[in-house]
Amino acid sequence: MGTRVAPVSGWGRYPVQSCELERPERYADLRPFDGGLIVRGQGRSYGDAALNEDGRVLLTERVNRLLDLDAEQGILRAEAGVTLAEILGVIVPKGWFLPVTPGTKFVSLGGCVAADVHGKNHHRDGSFCDHILGLEMILADGRRLPCSPAENAALFWATVGGMGLTGIIGEVTLKLIPIQNGYMKVHHRAAGNLEQLFQLLEDPAMDDRYTVAWLDSLATGQHLGRGIAMFGHHAASEDLPAGLDNSPKPGRSRAIPFDFPAIALNPASIGAFNAWYYAREGKKREPFLCGYDPYFYPLDAIGNWNRMYGKRGFVQYQCVIPGATAFDGIKALLGKLADSRRASFLAVLKRFGAQGKGLLSFPMAGYTLALDLPIRDTGLFELLDELDQIVLKCGGRIYLAKDARLSAESFRAMYPRYGEWLKIKNVVDPKNVFSSSLSRRLGVDGDMA
Ligand SMILES: Cc1cc2nc3c(=O)[nH]c(=O)nc-3n(C[C@H](O)[C@H](O)[C@H](O)COP(=O)(O)OP(=O)(O)OC[C@H]3O[C@@H](n4cnc5c(N)ncnc54)[C@H](O)[C@@H]3O)c2cc1C
Repeated sequence: MGTRVAPVSGWGRYPVQSCELERPERYADLRPFDGGLIVRGQGRSYGDAALNEDGRVLLTERVNRLLDLDAEQGILRAEAGVTLAEILGVIVPKGWFLPVTPGTKFVSLGGCVAADVHGKNHHRDGSFCDHILGLEMILADGRRLPCSPAENAALFWATVGGMGLTGIIGEVTLKLIPIQNGYMKVHHRAAGNLEQLFQLLEDPAMDDRYTVAWLDSLATGQHLGRGIAMFGHHAASEDLPAGLDNSPKPGRSRAIPFDFPAIALNPASIGAFNAWYYAREGKKREPFLCGYDPYFYPLDAIGNWNRMYGKRGFVQYQCVIPGATAFDGIKALLGKLADSRRASFLAVLKRFGAQGKGLLSFPMAGYTLALDLPIRDTGLFELLDELDQIVLKCGGRIYLAKDARLSAESFRAMYPRYGEWLKIKNVVDPKNVFSSSLSRRLGVDGDMA
């Protein structure tokens, strides 16, 4: 099969590395390569998880068939290269929805398994792995092996959240959730500071299936952590006014045609946007209807929005902090960020439910904060190292699917089940065939026998 060498990056456009790309056309062509490889779905991880500098990257975009949909039971079986967008196009008209979805639909099913992605409903429904009925894995020795929580379970729990390092995820069988239409019922509440925001997110009377908060990352002093808490659930038939079609029309996608100059997103422009957004969204106290697409995937409406951050790219810093230390930890992180005058255009806070069984899965009970930070100089990396120290002190961790710069030492401290994971990796991939730029940076490969 032919390969070509090209510069590749993740969604953050940092780092950019030369990789040898192979694109199998059929499921039967998915096989490991003795010289080492990593699988790449849609490349929506932000950093170097789907990169393999000067090595092989296996693209799954053509291995994307929907194999079976049991429309009675809501069970889907598909090849791992299929995107969530393609799946939604088929299941929503039949009254089903994804049990967990990240903030973009342009990701592959395999990428969702490998990162064990979470959505706005983690506090209620857990992460992606909690809804997987089974996987077919293609291992380093070429064997095709089923795994699930009940069968070859050790491989399953090492694979969900395992960032593609245990083998090729070939097929996925997923349990869907029923919906009555394509609309969401949503309401917002403004919070004047972080304390009020936490109160809203903790309030059982406010809680909903999907809960998330937008933060003004530039607010300081008594307004530090001000934001909008957003609550929503799938609308029932009786929520829709008479005459409204069950399926909202998908919005038109607009593209960013060129790289913005890095200066375009500066504290002044972001501050002006934040003030406008806070005032506008905070007014939406009454429940309103919203199509599922703009609700779950607002950024998908702007193609290549990552170009807004300029040619040098950006880092998404996403951490989780356990419940007991979450308020103080998030306050310290936001304070340090505000002091640095490095504004984050996007700042999102979510509550997480209990930690799952994935050995390298990111979520743990507490709060997760995500910040998008443009790379203008190396000072950013020094700041992020300082943020890591706060996260570590609070007992939290960084999300590998977003990461491009965490140290091996911090990774070990943040992922205490790494040792258990490594034992399974050594059994299923003793020659370390599955290796990425991320795994080498985090020292995962350094331990192999
Ligand atoms: C706008 C935006 C919003 C996002 N929101 C969220 C969110 O709310 N929650 C969340 O959890 N994540 C979120 N993400 C991150 C994203 O969901 C994950 O990074 C996901 O893994 C991307 O899927 P992908 O197909 O692009 O995978 P890639 O980026 O191509 O790969 C990611 C990892 O999965 C592995 N992988 C992919 N396919 C396979 C396969 N078939 N077999 C083995 N390994 C494989 C790769 O080796 C790599 O380690 C967001 C990303 C963006 C750009």
